[in-house]
This record gives sequence, structure tokens and C-alpha cells, in this order.
Amino acid sequence: MDDYFVNKNAQSNGDHEVHKSGCNWMPHYKIALGPHLGCYSAVLAARTHYPQSNGCAFCSPLCHTS
Ligand SMILES: [Zn+2]
Repeated sequence: MDDYFVNKNAQSNGDHEVHKSGCNWMPHYKIALGPHLGCYSAVLAARTHYPQSNGCAFCSPLCHTS
């Protein structure tokens, strides 16, 4: 399991990106989502904080939609 985080700051398109521990693009202001088996459940957890959450294109490409 990996620890996941969601960015407190939205991207320009309104998305709050979800990152896996160790990602080079980990934001400074973030909410810990706890350990998850994969990005899918992590994004679901992020959506309890921010309905418009999306996987990071670099660390969670399977959950990234553009
Ligand atoms: Zn990332």
C-alpha cells in the first residue's frame, strides 16, 4: 500500500490532483488520504474533500483524465 495525498490547491481547470508518496510533483499544501492499494480508492477518498479530484499524470496516470 502507498500513502496518497490530495492537493489543497486546485489546478487551473479546477482539479485537485491526487499524488502517491514519493511523487516529484507532491504539493506543499495537501491533505493526507492514508494508505491505499491503488489510485482508484485514493481518488474516491479525495472526492470526499474535493468533488473535482483527479489522479496526477505522473504518479497516478491510470487515474488521470484530461
Ligand atoms: Zn503525482
